[in-house]
Amino acid sequence: MKHKRSKLEKWIDAVYLLAAIFSIVFLMASVVFMAYSERLNKEEKSDYIVQTAKQSAQAVNRHIQDNFHTLESLGVLVEYSGGSDVESMERILLSLMESYGFVRIGFSDLNGNASWLEADGAARIDVDLAQTEFIIRALAGENVVTNTRTDPASGVSINYYAVPLRENGEIVGLVFAADATSDLLEILNVSLLGGKGFSHVIDQSGDFVVRSDSTLQDTGAQGIFDLDEQMRENTRQQILDGMAAGKAGFIERNTETEKRLASYAPVGINDWYVFYSLPESMIDESFHYMSNGLVSLVTVSILIFIALTSFMRIINEKSRQSLESIVYKDMLTGHRNFQKFLIDARTVLNERGSRGYSLWYCDIKNFKYINDMFGYDVGDNVLKYWADTISEDLRAGEMFGRVDADNFVCLRFFDGEQEARERFVEEAARLESFAETAKRGFRIEMCTGVYVLQEEEGLTVNDMLDRANVAQKSVKALNGSRMAFYSKAMRENILRETEIELKMWQALEGREFLVYMQPKIDIRHDNKLMGMEALVRWNSKEKGLIPPSEFIPLFEKNGFIVELDRYVFEQSCKLFHDYVLESDYPPLIISVNVSRLGILQPDFVESYVAIKDMYGIPDGYIEVEFTESIAFDNHVMFSGIVKALQSHGISCSLDDFGAGHSSLNILKDLTVDVLKLDQLFFRPGLDKNRDRELVKSVVSMAKALNMKTVAEGVENFKTVDFLRRIGCDIVQGYVFAKPMPIDELLYYVKNYDNKMEEDADGG
Ligand code: C2E
Ligand code: CA
Ligand code: CA
Repeated sequence: MKHKRSKLEKWIDAVYLLAAIFSIVFLMASVVFMAYSERLNKEEKSDYIVQTAKQSAQAVNRHIQDNFHTLESLGVLVEYSGGSDVESMERILLSLMESYGFVRIGFSDLNGNASWLEADGAARIDVDLAQTEFIIRALAGENVVTNTRTDPASGVSINYYAVPLRENGEIVGLVFAADATSDLLEILNVSLLGGKGFSHVIDQSGDFVVRSDSTLQDTGAQGIFDLDEQMRENTRQQILDGMAAGKAGFIERNTETEKRLASYAPVGINDWYVFYSLPESMIDESFHYMSNGLVSLVTVSILIFIALTSFMRIINEKSRQSLESIVYKDMLTGHRNFQKFLIDARTVLNERGSRGYSLWYCDIKNFKYINDMFGYDVGDNVLKYWADTISEDLRAGEMFGRVDADNFVCLRFFDGEQEARERFVEEAARLESFAETAKRGFRIEMCTGVYVLQEEEGLTVNDMLDRANVAQKSVKALNGSRMAFYSKAMRENILRETEIELKMWQALEGREFLVYMQPKIDIRHDNKLMGMEALVRWNSKEKGLIPPSEFIPLFEKNGFIVELDRYVFEQSCKLFHDYVLESDYPPLIISVNVSRLGILQPDFVESYVAIKDMYGIPDGYIEVEFTESIAFDNHVMFSGIVKALQSHGISCSLDDFGAGHSSLNILKDLTVDVLKLDQLFFRPGLDKNRDRELVKSVVSMAKALNMKTVAEGVENFKTVDFLRRIGCDIVQGYVFAKPMPIDELLYYVKNYDNKMEEDADGG
């Protein structure tokens, strides 16, 4: 259902929006920050790894330079001592070997004749090493360190170090030593993180000089490019170019399984480089604090956001529920209101189909009276009591709701009319005994209409409730608690009534309402024609002549009767004016009917008198007929009106006397001029004797009260005789004439012969 948005809902929307904006801004900031820190991170990583390579390179360089210094010092010593033979130097050489970890140490002359001492003290003298590369290079004046090689004697990896031996600036030979590569490896391995990285000393072509421990298996690779055959050409070239330029560098590459970061830095000796490589994940671990911090920050904010939005959702749901209870609950009874009933009934009927259901429309008949008599509090309590009563009587799957005021609707199972009536009677009995009114001797009456649902009828719940309501209205006017089942005829009646209501005004303007006149005969004065009653007919363009019984009750309900009665009254006055005053027709008393609603109009007397005067009708020729029930409803007011009319020369007649709850006692207080005995008394087949006695006593009583008596609906002369005998004055009935249109009436009046009918009857 659509409803106006409440303040609370708007507020909630605003907070939602704020939360959403905050979250978006926050997430964007986080992304930017992460990207930024990622970049920082990357820079930091490359810095870190290049620095590591450089440090390793320096350490390698230092180690090599240390060895060179050691050998240079040895050279100085040799020069100083004047001898270069191994035997004379044995003690010094052994102590150097021990303290530096050399595998062998010795000298060579300019011709490459070398003599040395092994670590175990064994001496080799005059071995020709003239063709050995490091010998050649050292004799050429260079400090040399060789690539790693496996020492055939000890089986360990070694590097030869050699420095030239000079005397007075002239190269006279060289000093050399073999150092176990493990020393260099120790230096390189310092920077290896948990063994997942490796650190090599390589030459400018990428071949290994010192190969890191961590590449455990010897795969026969000669250099870093052999180790990683998938390394892309441009990466390889980048490394080679960088090394050729003598620079340190950083590379990033993806292998099949991981991303690796590598760096290289010149050792500063030979064309050596330290090449340092490790998986990025290793490095990330050392950066994990920052990223973890960021991740937890984002996580926490997401959690806060989730908490906030679910909190909002809860609030929203709560407010929706409370809104729903405002929108869907009937405030007075606390049960469903009509909206909710419609929604729920639709749902139930859609789910289960309409077979076996009925819709009830209930109305408390005298509810307005309860409010007026006992006050609104009692009225409210009646409604609550009734709501609770129905509610308690509901079975699972049934429901009810309040439409408005004292109108309730129910969806109930239907098990035949008998069962429905029993339920209704029981509920109505409970309502009738409602304590607050029962103790004052007042009975609450209920009327209910039921529509039994038909399968496949395609009616909406609203349509069906309308039908239940039609049924309800059909019994509303009856006494006591009532229940009615909707029938097609009821609906047709409603349709007919609606159609009439749509057309009545037009009909009045279009002069479709005709005034018929029924003559009245004075049976005590030679059956003289003394007057007539105006009776309305509807000559409908579409339907022809419609009798008053088909529209008067409806007009009495919808109030149109007030207009119609005045119209008939005016037409009657006009008739008198046109044919009696303006022409030579004999003056006849014309009586017109006035409905209950007519005399309740504040200007009733005034307007009727005005019309009478307008047509210049002399006093005593116009009579109004009121039905008996109006007079007895409120006889004080009625007497006032009667007196007022009489004072303006309008006579009053009490119509249909004896039909309803006539009370002969009141009759003497009603100063009407004429008493019309109801047709009921003269209908054939009734208890003649009893009726005759009654008619006789009414007529004599009227006489005593100085009223004229009219017998209506008399159809035979036997009755006329009887009426004449008991002193009844006037007869209006088919025995003399039926109601007739004006032209017929004029003819009838012109040709009326007082004695005619009775002669014909032979009486
Ligand atoms: P009512 O005022 O009691 O009128 C008498 C009814 O009895 C008329 O019926 C009349 O035609 C009928 N009637 C007269 N003599 C006989 C007879 O011998 N046998 C039979 N069977 N019927 C006879 P009508 O004209 O159908 O009117 C019916 C009712 O409609 C009237 O009853 C009156 O209550 C109401 N009505 C008619 N015209 C008007 C009107 O202009 N205003 C108001 N408020 N009510 C009117
Ligand atoms: Ca009448
Ligand atoms: Ca009558």
